[in-house]
Formats: sequence, structure tokens, C-alpha cells
Amino acid sequence: MNPGQNSRSGYSGLTDYHSHTPLCRHAEGTPEAYVDAALRQGLAEYGVSDHGPSPNLDDDWRMAVEELPEYLQWVEEARRHAGPDLPVRLGLECDFLPGEESWLDTLRGRADWDYWIGSVHYIADDWAVDDPRIAFRIGETGVEETWGLYWKCYLAAVRSGRFEIMGHPDLVKKFGQRPAGDLRRYYEPVVEAMADVGCACELNTAGWHKECGEAYPAAEFLALCAEAEIPLVLSSDAHAPEEVARDFSQARNMALDAGYTHLARFAGGQRSMHPLQ
Ligand code: ZN
Ligand code: FE
Ligand code: FE
Ligand code: ZN
Repeated sequence: MNPGQNSRSGYSGLTDYHSHTPLCRHAEGTPEAYVDAALRQGLAEYGVSDHGPSPNLDDDWRMAVEELPEYLQWVEEARRHAGPDLPVRLGLECDFLPGEESWLDTLRGRADWDYWIGSVHYIADDWAVDDPRIAFRIGETGVEETWGLYWKCYLAAVRSGRFEIMGHPDLVKKFGQRPAGDLRRYYEPVVEAMADVGCACELNTAGWHKECGEAYPAAEFLALCAEAEIPLVLSSDAHAPEEVARDFSQARNMALDAGYTHLARFAGGQRSMHPLQ
């Protein structure tokens, strides 16, 4: 399914908290262009959450540790341009690597974050599961085994308790491979952990534009979240200004279908709930 382009529908009750900046080397656009897009879409709030730095990762798709001040300045420019009508939130999309807890705690102290999104890309030291350059490893390893590795990492990220929002829950399906049978065997322990920890989950529309052709997470996962009363945010994972709030009317419908009546917002790490209309 490909739900097509944005309408200029005025998403006045909605926020988009997952977006990137050119500091990650695979996104484009100025702070002004992203803010203008958010204003055009009529969003209530806009959040920036670029790929966070790590002293232990030297991949080519995140800001460097010493670029953090530049990132904070980028968000300041967005805030200046937005003015009082559009709150711009300061977030970060963090990878969770086992053993990196103390680095995350250091990083947390370096800015006044509104929220962090916890994401799993790495399922082994040298394997980011969403990297198309090494997607062949899924076939080599086997889909069941790959899913097992991924969800084990995801569970550890949730249980770390360091994230307000968990990012693109079933990213492992990006290239369209899924194990046979009822996939809730993978989802249930993660949803239970999110309920224990008290974090929110995102409904990320980027998957509609990937081989899997589905939002992250799948509808079955989202239904489990709604049943467990896991707070939800909608997100586009924009890597370009024109992707801000992309497919949000479809996402809103999907959330309503799952049983959601409210969406979460974050400021200074504090959550508030707002009616979903
Ligand atoms: Zn990215
Ligand atoms: Fe990501
Ligand atoms: Fe992202
Ligand atoms: Zn992402």
C-alpha cells in the first residue's frame, strides 16, 4: 500500500516528533524549510530527533560527538524561525548499544532534551538491519534468526528505561521479509516491557515508502499497544522538509482503528495526553 502524498489538511491536533537534519549526512534541508513545512501542515508541535552521537560507533550516518553544539544551534534556529505559534521540541534518536548506558547518561546531561526516541538499528556490532548495503545478511542469516536478534535488542532498549518514545518498532521488516505464522510471539514481550517501563511508542509512516509497504509498527502490534494503553505519537521520520507529517491522515486513521483516543506530547521529558481527532 502506498497512501500517496500529503494533503494540506491542517493537522492542528497532531505533532511530528521524528525528523532529521543534515548533520546525519543522509538528510537535507534547512531549519527554516522544516519549520515552514510543519507550519504548512498545521502541526501543533514539531520535534527534531536526529541520529544521536556515540563514541563507540563510527558509521557514516550520525552526527559526531563534537557536532552536538551544532545540532543544538540548528534546533535554536528552527525555534527562532517558528516563533511562538509552533513549539519546536528538542529530541534525539538514540541507538541503544548494550554497555553504552553511561554514555547515554552523560549525553542526557548535555542539553535540555524534551524527549529521546530509542531505536534499534544495530543487531550485531557491524550490522545495521536497515542498511540496504548489507540487507543480503538477512537471507544469509535466516529471517527467523534475524528477527530473534532484532527483538532481543529491542527488548533491551525498552528495558533500559532511557527513552520517552520507542522508535519504529518492527524496523526489521523494512525489506519485506517476515517469518511465517503469528508474529505476535515477537511483539508481546516488547509491548509488555513498554507497559512496565511506561514509555510511549511511535507510529512511524516511513515504512509505507519502503519495500515492506507498511507503517512501523504493523497493525497487530499497534492493537496490542492500544490494549496495553501504551501512549502513542505519530511520526514521519522526515529526512527532507517535504516529508514532514507525510501520510498523517492515514496514520491517524490507523491509530483510531487500533482503538486510540489520545496522543502523547512531550516537553522537558514530561508527557501530556491530547485528544486524537
Ligand atoms: Zn536516518
Ligand atoms: Fe531510525
Ligand atoms: Fe529517524
Ligand atoms: Zn528513524
